[in-house]
Amino acid sequence: MSKIKSLICKATSSLATKNNDNNNLEPIQENNITANTPIEQTRWNGWGNVNINKKVSTHGAKLIKSHIGKTKKLPSVSLQEVLKTVPKSRLPAAMTELETVSIDNEVRLRHARGQSFPDWIAMHSGDFEVFPDGVAHPQSTDDVETLLKLAKEHDLIVIPFGGGTSVAGHINPKKGSRPVLTIAMSKMDQLIDLDVESQIATFGAGTQGPAVEAQLDAHGYRLGHYPQSWELSTLGGWIAARSSGQQSLGYGRIEQLFAGGTLVTPQGILNIADIPASSAGPDLREMMMGTEGRAGIFTTVKMRVQPQPEQELFKVAFLPNWEAGKEVLRQAVQGNIQLSMLRLSNAVETDAHLHLGTTPSQFLAISTYLKARGLSSDKVMLTYGVSGDKAQNKLALTQFNKLLKQHGSVTGKITDIMGSVWAHGRFKFPYLRGTLWDKGIMVDTFETATNWKNIDEQMQQMQQAVQTSLANEGENVMAFTHISHVYKQGASLYTTYFFRAAKDHAATLKRWQKIKHAASLSVANGKATISHQHGVGRDHAPYLAAEKGKLGIQVTNDMLKSLDPEQRMNPGVLIGD
Ligand SMILES: Cc1cc2nc3c(=O)[nH]c(=O)nc-3n(C[C@H](O)[C@H](O)[C@H](O)COP(=O)(O)OP(=O)(O)OC[C@H]3O[C@@H](n4cnc5c(N)ncnc54)[C@H](O)[C@@H]3O)c2cc1C
Repeated sequence: MSKIKSLICKATSSLATKNNDNNNLEPIQENNITANTPIEQTRWNGWGNVNINKKVSTHGAKLIKSHIGKTKKLPSVSLQEVLKTVPKSRLPAAMTELETVSIDNEVRLRHARGQSFPDWIAMHSGDFEVFPDGVAHPQSTDDVETLLKLAKEHDLIVIPFGGGTSVAGHINPKKGSRPVLTIAMSKMDQLIDLDVESQIATFGAGTQGPAVEAQLDAHGYRLGHYPQSWELSTLGGWIAARSSGQQSLGYGRIEQLFAGGTLVTPQGILNIADIPASSAGPDLREMMMGTEGRAGIFTTVKMRVQPQPEQELFKVAFLPNWEAGKEVLRQAVQGNIQLSMLRLSNAVETDAHLHLGTTPSQFLAISTYLKARGLSSDKVMLTYGVSGDKAQNKLALTQFNKLLKQHGSVTGKITDIMGSVWAHGRFKFPYLRGTLWDKGIMVDTFETATNWKNIDEQMQQMQQAVQTSLANEGENVMAFTHISHVYKQGASLYTTYFFRAAKDHAATLKRWQKIKHAASLSVANGKATISHQHGVGRDHAPYLAAEKGKLGIQVTNDMLKSLDPEQRMNPGVLIGD
């Protein structure tokens, strides 16, 4: 036992002092995540800030390869090579003469693709297919109105662009005879007003996550919306694609945070009042959320904010198996325990997370400790948080600890430290995709939500579909899942999968298409949604009718047509072509 104790002591102090050999466990300040990341400072062909990297632990990469086999890196074209393929802009002089509009090739290239798997293939193969003909950077609602009027006059397609972090093909122009103008909202990035009495903050819709919180923090307030893409994604994108932040349990999804605002549509301005509640007919606020750029452009948005919490903590607990973990989540949310987040990794994800997020010595110490405390390879990791005043947090933690104990949890100093390590490094995880890509390991995710009653079956079906989707090629796909957003009636399921790059980009894309199709079919059964948080875009559009029904699609389409009769706003997205 003393040997185990000494292992734990070493691991605890190495985690606590971020002394690690794989650069994985750094506090948020050291992630270089600043208040605003201009697009020129981001990778043109991958995720995030060019100055931030994330290494993968050798034993983490080895674990993935033990599932999928030996891998080989795909070649990547250079920026200069792709720039040579950008065609001449088709925008009329009336547009290009505007100060707000750029037809610079690199600007167009940087607004041509998002972050979906097909986008990564396009960016690395150089086969972008289509570029916007120009990119506008409006600074006001008036500028956006002018741009939409000119777009009508010159029959342009318009694509609203927030942070470009879409993972479902939301902002990609498609081939067609009409020139494409992308309207990038990055210059509308300021806090315009803070109504402290009503706790409503008005922002430019192009404000990115860190800039939202930095500007609110200056007044002692917080929005509390933290999608994993927080570093680059924007208020307008969150509202238009109905996003969900990691602490949705405490702060609510974007639906709870968005109070109202200004939507500039091809038919005029729609003002959505920020009234707290109303029985005056269908809710325009709800109707415009999730319109994915097809109804118009949000220019200013009013957000429900709250004072900064007195205390915020993140912790980890391990439970003997999935069933026990799931019960803890369900009972905590249905029992109204005031937590800010709950996230449960299944056994495969727990093992992978322990490999990817630790050094070999930390991994050995944590695994030995958990084994000594009676946990087997079925163990699951539960990450949870509280955010509020100290008394409220204390009560929530007391109630939650009781529930954890009833279900056989293992907690200790080391698991507490794992919680803060997770919180400090949470926005750095997306950087791992590029690191794995360079090793020929392809990674993507698939997410849905369903009722508690269906959770297990849905997870099993989704994982099975993904894992067996390349069987006819003799390829293995590694998949694991976590629950990351919980509700009284159900939860979201988020599956991460890894597969090998094929001989070239086109063959690799085909592999991904098979996996995506199999996963999408596993939810198109009426019991789960095609997306809990990533939205529909182009990639999920073919599966939407299975969820909404023919009449549901017709109603949505009619509503969009009433605001955009000429179908110039992001056509093909959401409803499909
Ligand atoms: C690494 C990574 C992690 C992610 N994690 C999460 C997560 O935890 N939770 C989550 O919900 N999503 C997540 N996403 C998905 C993505 O970040 C969200 O869909 C986000 O809401 C997109 O915001 P954006 O500002 O980047 O919008 P964009 O990608 O630029 O656009 C998305 C859609 O919104 C429209 N749009 C953008 N701005 C406006 C506007 N002002 N007015 C009208 N329409 C507009 C666009 O036309 C498009 O249809 C993740 C993505 C990545 C790459």
